[in-house]
Amino acid sequence: MTVSNEFTIRGSRCLVMGLGAFGGGIGATQWLAQQGAKEILVTDLSSAEKLQESIAQITPLIDSGVVRLRLGAHELADFQHAQFVVANPAVPKPWTNPFLKAAREAGAHVTTELRLALQHIPAQRVIAVTGSSGKSTTSAFIHHALDGFHGKRAHFAGNIGGSLLNNCPVIGPDEWLVLELSSFMLWWLGPDSGNPHWHARIGVLTNLCDNHLDWHGDAAHYSASKSVIRNHAAGDHIFLSRFDIESPTQACEWGKLPAGSWWNNPPLDTRVEQCMPLFENSKLIGEHNKRNALLALHACMAALRIDNPQLDVYETARTLSAKMNLFTGLPHRLSLAQDCNGVRWINDSKATTPAATLFAVESFPNTSQIHLIAGGVSKGADLSPIVALTPRLAGLYCIGTAGNQLASAGGIHCETLENAVKIIRSRIRPGDVVLLSPGCASWDQFQNYEARGARFAELATELDLVR
Ligand code: ADP
Repeated sequence: MTVSNEFTIRGSRCLVMGLGAFGGGIGATQWLAQQGAKEILVTDLSSAEKLQESIAQITPLIDSGVVRLRLGAHELADFQHAQFVVANPAVPKPWTNPFLKAAREAGAHVTTELRLALQHIPAQRVIAVTGSSGKSTTSAFIHHALDGFHGKRAHFAGNIGGSLLNNCPVIGPDEWLVLELSSFMLWWLGPDSGNPHWHARIGVLTNLCDNHLDWHGDAAHYSASKSVIRNHAAGDHIFLSRFDIESPTQACEWGKLPAGSWWNNPPLDTRVEQCMPLFENSKLIGEHNKRNALLALHACMAALRIDNPQLDVYETARTLSAKMNLFTGLPHRLSLAQDCNGVRWINDSKATTPAATLFAVESFPNTSQIHLIAGGVSKGADLSPIVALTPRLAGLYCIGTAGNQLASAGGIHCETLENAVKIIRSRIRPGDVVLLSPGCASWDQFQNYEARGARFAELATELDLVR
Protein backbone atom coordinates (compact mmCIF):
# COMPACT_ATOMS: atom_id res chain seq x y z
CA MET A 1 0.00 0.00 0.00
CA THR A 2 0.96 3.64 -0.33
CA VAL A 3 1.47 5.22 3.07
CA SER A 4 1.93 8.72 1.81
CA ASN A 5 2.04 10.41 -1.56
CA GLU A 6 5.71 9.61 -1.76
CA PHE A 7 6.08 6.12 -0.38
CA THR A 8 5.03 2.53 -1.19
CA ILE A 9 5.94 -0.30 1.17
CA ARG A 10 5.95 -3.07 -1.46
CA GLY A 11 9.52 -3.96 -2.37
CA SER A 12 11.05 -1.54 0.13
CA ARG A 13 13.71 -1.85 2.85
CA CYS A 14 11.96 -1.42 6.20
CA LEU A 15 13.20 -1.17 9.76
CA VAL A 16 11.24 -1.57 13.00
CA MET A 17 12.95 0.21 15.90
CA GLY A 18 11.87 -1.33 19.21
CA LEU A 19 10.10 -4.69 19.07
CA GLY A 20 8.94 -4.21 22.66
CA ALA A 21 6.61 -6.35 24.70
CA PHE A 22 3.25 -4.65 24.21
CA GLY A 23 2.37 -5.72 20.69
CA GLY A 24 3.07 -2.56 18.70
CA GLY A 25 6.42 -3.74 17.30
CA ILE A 26 5.02 -7.17 16.48
CA GLY A 27 2.01 -5.64 14.75
CA ALA A 28 4.19 -3.28 12.70
CA THR A 29 6.49 -6.14 11.63
CA GLN A 30 3.60 -8.39 10.59
CA TRP A 31 1.88 -5.58 8.76
CA LEU A 32 4.99 -4.56 6.83
CA ALA A 33 5.42 -8.19 5.77
CA GLN A 34 1.79 -8.36 4.61
CA GLN A 35 2.32 -5.19 2.59
CA GLY A 36 5.15 -6.89 0.69
CA ALA A 37 8.22 -5.20 2.16
CA LYS A 38 11.36 -6.63 0.56
CA GLU A 39 13.28 -6.80 3.83
CA ILE A 40 12.42 -5.93 7.43
CA LEU A 41 15.09 -5.43 10.06
CA VAL A 42 13.77 -5.51 13.62
CA THR A 43 16.20 -3.87 16.02
CA ASP A 44 15.89 -3.56 19.78
CA LEU A 45 18.29 -2.71 22.60
CA SER A 46 16.94 -5.61 24.67
CA SER A 47 18.29 -9.13 24.47
CA ALA A 48 16.67 -12.10 22.72
CA GLU A 49 15.99 -13.58 26.15
CA LYS A 50 14.02 -10.57 27.35
CA LEU A 51 12.10 -10.37 24.09
CA GLN A 52 11.47 -14.07 23.66
CA GLU A 53 7.65 -13.82 23.86
CA SER A 54 7.54 -11.11 21.20
CA ILE A 55 10.08 -12.89 19.00
CA ALA A 56 7.99 -16.07 19.14
CA GLN A 57 5.17 -14.21 17.43
CA ILE A 58 7.28 -13.25 14.42
CA THR A 59 9.27 -16.48 14.16
CA PRO A 60 7.52 -17.61 10.92
CA LEU A 61 8.60 -14.34 9.30
CA ILE A 62 12.16 -14.80 10.57
CA ASP A 63 12.20 -18.36 9.26
CA SER A 64 10.93 -17.22 5.87
CA GLY A 65 13.87 -14.81 5.62
CA VAL A 66 11.76 -11.62 5.35
CA VAL A 67 12.59 -10.49 8.88
CA ARG A 68 16.05 -10.22 10.40
CA LEU A 69 16.80 -9.33 14.01
CA ARG A 70 19.46 -7.02 15.41
CA LEU A 71 19.23 -7.19 19.21
CA GLY A 72 21.25 -5.77 22.09
CA ALA A 73 22.30 -2.65 20.14
CA HIS A 74 21.30 -0.47 17.20
CA GLU A 75 23.62 -0.03 14.20
CA LEU A 76 23.79 3.32 12.44
CA ALA A 77 24.32 1.62 9.07
CA ASP A 78 20.96 -0.18 9.40
CA PHE A 79 19.19 3.15 9.72
CA GLN A 80 21.10 4.67 6.81
CA HIS A 81 20.12 1.69 4.66
CA ALA A 82 16.38 1.75 5.52
CA GLN A 83 13.80 3.48 3.33
CA PHE A 84 10.97 3.18 5.82
CA VAL A 85 11.33 3.25 9.62
CA VAL A 86 8.60 2.40 12.13
CA ALA A 87 9.79 3.59 15.54
CA ASN A 88 8.36 2.46 18.84
CA PRO A 89 6.80 5.62 20.35
CA ALA A 90 8.75 5.05 23.57
CA VAL A 91 12.17 5.38 21.84
CA PRO A 92 13.85 8.09 23.97
CA LYS A 93 13.87 11.65 22.67
CA PRO A 94 13.07 10.85 19.03
CA TRP A 95 13.68 14.49 18.09
CA THR A 96 17.42 14.12 18.79
CA ASN A 97 17.83 10.35 18.50
CA PRO A 98 20.99 9.85 16.37
CA PHE A 99 19.64 6.71 14.68
CA LEU A 100 16.37 8.32 13.62
CA LYS A 101 18.29 11.40 12.56
CA ALA A 102 20.53 9.25 10.36
CA ALA A 103 17.48 7.59 8.81
CA ARG A 104 15.84 10.91 8.08
CA GLU A 105 19.04 12.34 6.60
CA ALA A 106 19.31 9.31 4.35
CA GLY A 107 15.80 10.14 3.09
CA ALA A 108 13.79 7.50 4.99
CA HIS A 109 10.17 8.00 5.91
CA VAL A 110 9.96 7.78 9.75
CA THR A 111 6.67 7.02 11.47
CA THR A 112 5.00 4.89 14.19
CA GLU A 113 2.67 1.93 14.21
CA LEU A 114 -0.15 4.11 15.55
CA ARG A 115 0.24 6.74 12.83
CA LEU A 116 0.07 4.03 10.19
CA ALA A 117 -3.04 2.53 11.77
CA LEU A 118 -4.80 5.87 12.01
CA GLN A 119 -4.64 6.23 8.22
CA HIS A 120 -7.29 3.49 8.10
CA ILE A 121 -9.57 5.00 10.70
CA PRO A 122 -11.89 7.99 10.24
CA ALA A 123 -10.64 10.59 12.74
CA GLN A 124 -14.24 11.87 12.86
CA ARG A 125 -15.20 8.70 14.76
CA VAL A 126 -12.37 8.81 17.32
CA ILE A 127 -12.52 9.91 20.96
CA ALA A 128 -8.87 10.40 22.02
CA VAL A 129 -8.07 10.36 25.73
CA THR A 130 -4.89 11.43 27.48
CA GLY A 131 -3.67 12.62 30.89
CA SER A 132 -0.93 11.88 33.41
CA SER A 133 -3.17 9.48 35.28
CA GLY A 134 -6.58 8.00 34.75
CA LYS A 135 -6.41 7.74 30.97
CA SER A 136 -6.88 3.96 30.80
CA THR A 137 -9.72 4.00 33.32
CA THR A 138 -11.45 6.97 31.68
CA SER A 139 -11.08 5.37 28.25
CA ALA A 140 -12.41 2.08 29.59
CA PHE A 141 -15.38 3.87 31.18
CA ILE A 142 -16.21 5.56 27.88
CA HIS A 143 -15.88 2.30 26.01
CA HIS A 144 -17.95 0.41 28.57
CA ALA A 145 -20.75 2.99 28.40
CA LEU A 146 -20.83 3.39 24.61
CA ASP A 147 -20.37 -0.23 23.60
CA GLY A 148 -23.79 -1.70 23.03
CA PHE A 149 -25.56 1.60 23.67
CA HIS A 150 -28.61 1.63 21.38
CA GLY A 151 -27.22 -1.56 19.87
CA LYS A 152 -24.11 0.11 18.45
CA ARG A 153 -20.57 -1.11 18.93
CA ALA A 154 -17.66 0.89 20.30
CA HIS A 155 -13.97 -0.03 20.06
CA PHE A 156 -11.01 0.53 22.41
CA ALA A 157 -7.31 0.72 21.43
CA GLY A 158 -4.05 2.65 21.74
CA ASN A 159 -1.85 2.84 24.82
CA ILE A 160 -3.93 0.17 26.54
CA GLY A 161 -1.77 -2.29 24.55
CA GLY A 162 -1.80 -4.49 21.50
CA SER A 163 -1.41 -3.51 17.88
CA LEU A 164 -4.05 -1.26 16.35
CA LEU A 165 -2.46 -1.64 12.92
CA ASN A 166 -2.82 -5.39 12.87
CA ASN A 167 -6.26 -5.43 14.45
CA CYS A 168 -7.62 -2.38 12.74
CA PRO A 169 -11.32 -2.38 13.51
CA VAL A 170 -13.68 -1.43 10.75
CA ILE A 171 -15.43 1.52 12.34
CA GLY A 172 -19.04 1.69 11.20
CA PRO A 173 -20.45 5.14 10.40
CA ASP A 174 -22.24 5.25 13.76
CA GLU A 175 -19.53 3.52 15.82
CA TRP A 176 -16.82 5.13 17.94
CA LEU A 177 -13.20 4.23 18.61
CA VAL A 178 -11.93 5.19 22.07
CA LEU A 179 -8.20 5.77 21.66
CA GLU A 180 -6.01 6.03 24.75
CA LEU A 181 -2.93 8.11 23.96
CA SER A 182 0.33 8.47 25.90
CA SER A 183 2.42 11.64 25.72
CA PHE A 184 4.92 9.74 23.54
CA MET A 185 2.21 8.74 21.08
CA LEU A 186 0.92 12.30 21.04
CA TRP A 187 4.35 13.70 20.24
CA TRP A 188 4.44 11.41 17.21
CA LEU A 189 0.95 12.58 16.17
CA GLY A 190 1.97 16.23 16.42
CA PRO A 191 3.76 18.46 13.90
CA ASP A 192 7.18 18.19 15.62
CA SER A 193 7.44 14.57 14.46
CA GLY A 194 7.81 15.79 10.88
CA ASN A 195 4.43 14.30 9.92
CA PRO A 196 1.13 16.14 9.52
CA HIS A 197 -0.75 16.89 12.75
CA TRP A 198 -3.39 14.21 13.44
CA HIS A 199 -6.57 15.02 15.40
CA ALA A 200 -9.51 13.11 16.76
CA ARG A 201 -13.03 14.55 16.58
CA ILE A 202 -13.16 14.52 20.40
CA GLY A 203 -10.12 15.11 22.65
CA VAL A 204 -10.18 14.41 26.40
CA LEU A 205 -7.61 15.35 29.08
CA THR A 206 -7.85 13.89 32.59
CA ASN A 207 -5.09 15.85 34.36
CA LEU A 208 -1.41 16.78 34.27
CA CYS A 209 1.30 16.02 36.81
CA ASP A 210 5.03 15.33 36.51
CA ASN A 211 5.39 12.14 34.51
CA HIS A 212 7.86 10.76 31.99
CA LEU A 213 10.10 13.78 32.48
CA ASP A 214 13.08 11.51 31.80
CA TRP A 215 11.70 11.02 28.27
CA HIS A 216 10.54 14.58 27.65
CA GLY A 217 13.42 16.40 29.32
CA ASP A 218 11.18 18.85 31.14
CA ALA A 219 7.59 19.67 32.04
CA ALA A 220 7.36 22.25 29.24
CA HIS A 221 8.00 19.60 26.60
CA TYR A 222 5.60 17.20 28.35
CA SER A 223 2.77 19.75 28.38
CA ALA A 224 3.42 20.74 24.76
CA SER A 225 3.30 17.06 23.71
CA LYS A 226 0.06 16.48 25.60
CA SER A 227 -1.48 19.58 23.99
CA VAL A 228 -1.42 17.77 20.63
CA ILE A 229 -4.71 16.17 21.82
CA ARG A 230 -6.45 19.50 21.25
CA ASN A 231 -7.21 20.92 17.84
CA HIS A 232 -7.58 24.68 18.09
CA ALA A 233 -7.90 25.00 14.34
CA ALA A 234 -10.96 22.86 13.56
CA GLY A 235 -14.36 24.37 14.32
CA ASP A 236 -16.05 21.01 14.92
CA HIS A 237 -13.37 19.62 17.27
CA ILE A 238 -14.69 18.99 20.79
CA PHE A 239 -12.29 19.13 23.70
CA LEU A 240 -13.22 18.11 27.25
CA SER A 241 -11.33 18.38 30.51
CA ARG A 242 -12.12 18.96 34.18
CA PHE A 243 -8.44 19.52 35.08
CA ASP A 244 -8.86 23.18 36.03
CA ILE A 245 -12.05 22.42 38.01
CA GLU A 246 -10.57 19.46 39.90
CA SER A 247 -7.05 20.77 40.48
CA PRO A 248 -7.06 24.57 40.10
CA THR A 249 -3.67 25.03 41.80
CA GLN A 250 -1.91 22.48 39.61
CA ALA A 251 -3.70 23.78 36.50
CA CYS A 252 -2.48 27.28 37.34
CA GLU A 253 1.13 26.06 37.75
CA TRP A 254 1.05 24.03 34.52
CA GLY A 255 -0.54 26.97 32.71
CA LYS A 256 2.64 29.04 33.29
CA LEU A 257 4.60 26.81 30.91
CA PRO A 258 5.04 27.93 27.27
CA ALA A 259 2.15 25.74 26.04
CA GLY A 260 -0.15 27.82 28.32
CA SER A 261 -3.50 26.71 29.76
CA TRP A 262 -4.37 24.79 26.62
CA TRP A 263 -7.01 22.73 28.48
CA ASN A 264 -9.28 25.71 29.17
CA ASN A 265 -12.79 24.83 28.08
CA PRO A 266 -16.10 26.44 27.57
CA PRO A 267 -18.12 25.45 30.70
CA LEU A 268 -19.21 21.81 30.75
CA ASP A 269 -22.90 20.87 30.63
CA THR A 270 -24.05 20.89 34.28
CA ARG A 271 -27.09 18.78 33.40
CA VAL A 272 -24.73 15.88 32.67
CA GLU A 273 -23.03 16.26 36.06
CA GLN A 274 -26.38 16.12 37.87
CA CYS A 275 -26.82 12.53 36.70
CA MET A 276 -23.62 11.39 38.33
CA PRO A 277 -24.93 10.62 41.85
CA LEU A 278 -25.93 7.34 40.26
CA PHE A 279 -22.23 6.54 40.28
CA GLU A 280 -22.39 6.27 44.09
CA ASN A 281 -23.20 2.58 43.58
CA SER A 282 -20.05 1.98 41.59
CA LYS A 283 -17.81 -0.96 42.47
CA LEU A 284 -14.70 1.16 41.96
CA ILE A 285 -12.64 2.41 44.91
CA GLY A 286 -11.55 6.02 45.13
CA GLU A 287 -12.70 9.57 44.62
CA HIS A 288 -10.46 9.86 41.55
CA ASN A 289 -12.50 7.16 39.85
CA LYS A 290 -15.61 9.29 40.24
CA ARG A 291 -13.70 12.04 38.47
CA ASN A 292 -12.75 9.64 35.71
CA ALA A 293 -16.37 8.51 35.42
CA LEU A 294 -17.68 12.06 35.25
CA LEU A 295 -15.25 13.04 32.51
CA ALA A 296 -16.09 9.83 30.67
CA LEU A 297 -19.79 10.65 30.92
CA HIS A 298 -19.16 14.08 29.35
CA ALA A 299 -17.23 12.41 26.53
CA CYS A 300 -20.00 9.86 25.89
CA MET A 301 -22.61 12.58 25.85
CA ALA A 302 -20.55 14.65 23.39
CA ALA A 303 -20.22 11.64 21.09
CA LEU A 304 -23.90 10.73 21.25
CA ARG A 305 -24.87 14.35 20.69
CA ILE A 306 -22.83 14.37 17.47
CA ASP A 307 -24.89 11.37 16.35
CA ASN A 308 -28.18 12.82 17.56
CA PRO A 309 -28.23 16.54 18.38
CA GLN A 310 -31.84 16.17 19.63
CA LEU A 311 -31.11 13.61 22.34
CA ASP A 312 -32.69 13.94 25.76
CA VAL A 313 -29.74 14.96 27.97
CA TYR A 314 -31.11 13.74 31.33
CA GLU A 315 -32.42 10.45 30.07
CA THR A 316 -29.28 9.64 28.08
CA ALA A 317 -26.89 10.64 30.88
CA ARG A 318 -28.86 8.60 33.41
CA THR A 319 -28.84 5.53 31.20
CA LEU A 320 -25.12 5.92 30.53
CA SER A 321 -24.18 6.41 34.18
CA ALA A 322 -26.28 3.41 35.22
CA LYS A 323 -24.29 1.40 32.67
CA MET A 324 -21.04 2.82 34.03
CA ASN A 325 -22.00 1.65 37.53
CA LEU A 326 -21.59 -1.89 36.29
CA PHE A 327 -17.99 -1.32 35.23
CA THR A 328 -15.74 -3.28 37.57
CA GLY A 329 -12.49 -1.53 36.63
CA LEU A 330 -9.30 -2.49 34.87
CA PRO A 331 -6.83 -4.89 36.49
CA HIS A 332 -3.92 -3.49 38.56
CA ARG A 333 -5.78 -0.26 39.36
CA LEU A 334 -6.92 -0.29 42.99
CA SER A 335 -8.29 -3.79 42.50
CA LEU A 336 -8.93 -6.14 45.38
CA ALA A 337 -6.35 -8.95 45.19
CA GLN A 338 -7.30 -10.65 48.43
CA ASP A 339 -9.61 -10.15 51.39
CA CYS A 340 -8.24 -12.36 54.13
CA ASN A 341 -8.71 -12.33 57.91
CA GLY A 342 -10.15 -8.83 57.77
CA VAL A 343 -7.17 -7.48 55.77
CA ARG A 344 -7.69 -6.17 52.26
CA TRP A 345 -4.80 -6.54 49.79
CA ILE A 346 -5.15 -3.93 47.08
CA ASN A 347 -3.24 -4.09 43.83
CA ASP A 348 -2.60 -0.64 42.36
CA SER A 349 0.56 -1.60 40.46
CA LYS A 350 -0.43 0.70 37.60
CA ALA A 351 0.14 3.72 39.89
CA THR A 352 3.50 4.74 38.45
CA THR A 353 3.47 8.41 39.48
CA PRO A 354 3.60 9.85 43.02
CA ALA A 355 0.32 11.69 42.30
CA ALA A 356 -1.41 8.38 41.55
CA THR A 357 -0.06 6.93 44.82
CA LEU A 358 -1.44 9.89 46.78
CA PHE A 359 -4.86 9.42 45.21
CA ALA A 360 -4.74 5.73 46.06
CA VAL A 361 -3.88 6.42 49.71
CA GLU A 362 -6.62 9.05 50.01
CA SER A 363 -9.14 6.52 48.70
CA PHE A 364 -9.24 4.84 52.11
CA PRO A 365 -10.82 6.46 55.15
CA ASN A 366 -8.08 5.70 57.66
CA THR A 367 -4.53 6.11 56.39
CA SER A 368 -3.06 4.84 59.69
CA GLN A 369 -4.31 1.38 58.70
CA ILE A 370 -2.53 1.39 55.35
CA HIS A 371 0.66 -0.59 54.75
CA LEU A 372 1.92 1.05 51.58
CA ILE A 373 4.41 -0.69 49.29
CA ALA A 374 6.10 1.86 47.02
CA GLY A 375 9.18 2.12 44.85
CA GLY A 376 10.73 0.86 41.65
CA VAL A 377 12.30 3.19 39.08
CA SER A 378 11.45 6.84 39.34
CA LYS A 379 10.36 8.36 36.02
CA GLY A 380 11.92 11.71 36.94
CA ALA A 381 9.07 12.83 39.20
CA ASP A 382 9.57 14.29 42.68
CA LEU A 383 9.10 11.41 45.13
CA SER A 384 8.91 13.57 48.25
CA PRO A 385 5.06 13.51 48.40
CA ILE A 386 5.27 9.74 48.98
CA VAL A 387 8.03 10.16 51.60
CA ALA A 388 5.86 12.75 53.37
CA LEU A 389 3.10 10.15 53.80
CA THR A 390 5.32 8.04 56.11
CA PRO A 391 4.07 9.27 59.52
CA ARG A 392 0.42 8.97 58.45
CA LEU A 393 0.68 5.31 57.46
CA ALA A 394 0.81 1.99 59.34
CA GLY A 395 4.05 1.56 57.39
CA LEU A 396 5.84 2.54 54.21
CA TYR A 397 7.67 -0.42 52.67
CA CYS A 398 10.15 0.70 50.05
CA ILE A 399 11.35 -1.44 47.16
CA GLY A 400 13.53 -1.18 44.07
CA THR A 401 15.94 1.48 42.87
CA ALA A 402 14.03 4.33 44.51
CA GLY A 403 13.75 2.39 47.79
CA ASN A 404 16.53 4.22 49.62
CA GLN A 405 15.17 7.63 48.80
CA LEU A 406 11.60 6.66 49.70
CA ALA A 407 12.65 5.24 53.08
CA SER A 408 14.35 8.48 54.15
CA ALA A 409 11.63 9.54 56.63
CA GLY A 410 11.24 6.29 58.55
CA GLY A 411 10.05 3.95 55.82
CA ILE A 412 11.36 0.40 55.78
CA HIS A 413 13.80 -0.34 52.99
CA CYS A 414 12.78 -3.85 51.95
CA GLU A 415 14.58 -4.09 48.56
CA THR A 416 12.04 -6.53 47.09
CA LEU A 417 8.30 -7.04 46.97
CA GLU A 418 8.73 -10.46 48.59
CA ASN A 419 10.60 -8.96 51.57
CA ALA A 420 8.03 -6.22 51.91
CA VAL A 421 5.18 -8.75 52.07
CA LYS A 422 7.12 -10.86 54.56
CA ILE A 423 7.58 -7.89 56.90
CA ILE A 424 4.00 -6.71 56.46
CA ARG A 425 2.74 -10.21 57.23
CA SER A 426 4.19 -9.93 60.75
CA ARG A 427 2.59 -6.54 61.35
CA ILE A 428 -0.94 -6.59 59.93
CA ARG A 429 -4.09 -6.51 62.00
CA PRO A 430 -7.75 -6.96 61.06
CA GLY A 431 -9.10 -3.84 59.38
CA ASP A 432 -5.75 -3.00 57.76
CA VAL A 433 -5.17 -2.43 54.07
CA VAL A 434 -2.03 -3.62 52.27
CA LEU A 435 -1.67 -1.34 49.29
CA LEU A 436 0.76 -1.84 46.42
CA SER A 437 0.76 1.62 44.82
CA PRO A 438 4.40 2.09 43.84
CA GLY A 439 4.47 5.62 42.37
CA CYS A 440 7.32 4.39 40.19
CA ALA A 441 7.88 2.25 37.11
CA SER A 442 8.59 -1.46 37.54
CA TRP A 443 11.42 -2.01 35.05
CA ASP A 444 14.21 -2.53 37.60
CA GLN A 445 12.65 -5.67 39.10
CA PHE A 446 9.78 -6.73 36.82
CA GLN A 447 9.08 -6.97 33.12
CA ASN A 448 6.21 -4.52 33.49
CA TYR A 449 3.57 -3.25 35.92
CA GLU A 450 1.32 -6.23 35.14
CA ALA A 451 4.01 -8.69 36.26
CA ARG A 452 4.53 -6.64 39.43
CA GLY A 453 0.79 -6.63 40.20
CA ALA A 454 0.46 -10.33 39.42
CA ARG A 455 3.33 -11.16 41.78
CA PHE A 456 1.69 -9.08 44.52
CA ALA A 457 -1.62 -10.87 44.02
CA GLU A 458 0.23 -14.18 44.14
CA LEU A 459 1.97 -13.25 47.41
CA ALA A 460 -1.34 -12.12 48.90
CA THR A 461 -2.92 -15.44 47.98
CA GLU A 462 0.03 -17.41 49.39
CA LEU A 463 -0.61 -15.61 52.61
CA ASP A 464 -4.14 -16.94 52.56
CA LEU A 465 -2.76 -20.48 52.25
CA VAL A 466 -0.30 -19.98 55.10
CA ARG A 467 -3.06 -19.15 57.58
P1 ADP B 1 -3.09 5.82 33.18
O1 ADP B 1 -3.59 5.03 32.02
O2 ADP B 1 -3.10 7.31 32.91
O3 ADP B 1 -1.81 5.35 33.76
P2 ADP B 1 -4.98 4.42 34.85
O4 ADP B 1 -6.42 4.61 34.60
O5 ADP B 1 -4.34 3.18 34.34
O6 ADP B 1 -4.18 5.68 34.33
O7 ADP B 1 -4.73 4.52 36.41
C1 ADP B 1 -3.41 4.37 36.91
C2 ADP B 1 -3.37 4.77 38.34
O8 ADP B 1 -3.52 6.18 38.44
C3 ADP B 1 -4.50 4.17 39.16
O9 ADP B 1 -4.09 2.99 39.76
C4 ADP B 1 -4.82 5.23 40.18
O10 ADP B 1 -4.04 5.02 41.33
C5 ADP B 1 -4.37 6.52 39.53
N1 ADP B 1 -5.46 7.34 38.97
C6 ADP B 1 -6.44 6.94 38.14
N2 ADP B 1 -7.24 7.97 37.82
C7 ADP B 1 -6.74 9.06 38.43
C8 ADP B 1 -7.12 10.44 38.46
N3 ADP B 1 -8.19 10.91 37.81
N4 ADP B 1 -6.36 11.27 39.20
C9 ADP B 1 -5.28 10.82 39.86
N5 ADP B 1 -4.88 9.53 39.89
C10 ADP B 1 -5.60 8.66 39.17
